[in-house]
Amino acid sequence: MTQIICITCPKGCHLQVDEENDFRVTGNNCPRGETYGKNELQNPVRTLTSTVRLTGARTPRLPVKSSAPLPKGRIFDAMRLLDEVSVAAPVRCGQILLPDVFGTGVDIVATKSFDAAQS
Ligand code: SF4
Repeated sequence: MTQIICITCPKGCHLQVDEENDFRVTGNNCPRGETYGKNELQNPVRTLTSTVRLTGARTPRLPVKSSAPLPKGRIFDAMRLLDEVSVAAPVRCGQILLPDVFGTGVDIVATKSFDAAQS
């Protein structure tokens, strides 16, 4: 039996996941907790939020996120990848900056729009 805290919503339910009984989840206050508990032990994923370098705009950083959760084991690799990314303004919210990261089918997208700075 493994005890974890559900991070799906701020309530933070304390879950028990029984690996020896088909990953049965107890302690959840809603069905999303069951899904989270099963996935967390079998295939943990996380949505990545970060920033990348932005040029030609009034601010030097562009907020980005993964379009869907990535495998938890690839999050630090993805962060290192983002260290190398530089985007030139203009950029639109939702614009795909890195498609299909590590062949996962998940994209890195901008979460804010920036116009090119007037010179
Ligand atoms: S089990 Fe449901 S109510 Fe509890 S933290 Fe998870 S999402 Fe929120």
